Amino acid sequence: MSTTQVSTERLEAITSSILQPTAANGVQGRTAPFEEVIGGLTALITSHRAPGTEVLRFPPVMSRALLEKSGYLKSFPHLLGCVSSLTGTEASIRALVEGRAAGQDWVDGLAATDLVLTPAACYQVYPIIAARGDVPRSGVLVDVESYCFRREASSELGRMQAFRMREYVCIGAPDTALAFRENWKARAEELATQLGVPFTLVPASDPFFGRAGKLMAVNQVEQALKFELLIPVNSEEAPTACMSFNYHQDHFGNTWGLRTDDGAVAHTACAAFGLDRLTIALFATHGLDVDAWPPSVREALCI
Ligand code: 5GP
Ligand code: ZN
Repeated sequence: MSTTQVSTERLEAITSSILQPTAANGVQGRTAPFEEVIGGLTALITSHRAPGTEVLRFPPVMSRALLEKSGYLKSFPHLLGCVSSLTGTEASIRALVEGRAAGQDWVDGLAATDLVLTPAACYQVYPIIAARGDVPRSGVLVDVESYCFRREASSELGRMQAFRMREYVCIGAPDTALAFRENWKARAEELATQLGVPFTLVPASDPFFGRAGKLMAVNQVEQALKFELLIPVNSEEAPTACMSFNYHQDHFGNTWGLRTDDGAVAHTACAAFGLDRLTIALFATHGLDVDAWPPSVREALCI
């Protein structure tokens, strides 16, 4: 074991006392110290907000039709959660929930609604900006946050089914979107240094579904479309992705008819911060007692 490996006792304490486990795997309550750190991180990320950035905050659900149109079902159908509810007459619903419907459990009566659980904060942004008309080549910037859901039941610390994602999104000319992404890669390294966490910034790929997904993942790495900032939490061999920097090229531009004011298809990029994961990484690195964290880290977080 190397000297920087996080101790098992510390990881267990984060799992059981900094977070509050619940009956559902990967769904945790957040304690006061945890929320204090998330608050500090939120303010620190806000301090990096470029002038003129629009701020949008969303609840954890979004339109199913919009997510279908965005192509999510092609890439990540295995991660999606859909909101369903009971429909029917009062008598049929009562029979189901009271266990009186022959051979039917109450969940058999569920039908999908027009809502899904938001899987990534930035999906909400593109159709909203597209509906307003062309964007300048120099780009539109949006600061977005949402609770996100991914059906990833696992007991591994940092793999949550529901977590908060903060993102800066850029929509503009190809060189604008790419420059935004590159700029955020550099800034993120500064941010991680300020936070006193060990990190690496590496090319990465998304967990695309199925066999065809493996090829998509290889392409993503070859074209350097995604980078992740990794911080050791559970192990140094498999550090945890705490931020990601994505260049979507014309994917969302084509999907939503997003154009720059010269008539070209807009390109998009996003810098995503996993607030819960970053907080876990801070507790894993600096220990359970926030008051004993290095002064420079506490100063950066204003805690
Ligand atoms: P991405 O869209 O790149 O997969 O995710 C964006 C960010 O959300 C990641 O960098 C990570 O910090 C966070 N994230 C992704 N999956 C999970 C998860 O299962 N649990 C938690 N807590 N955060 C996640
Ligand atoms: Zn995004």
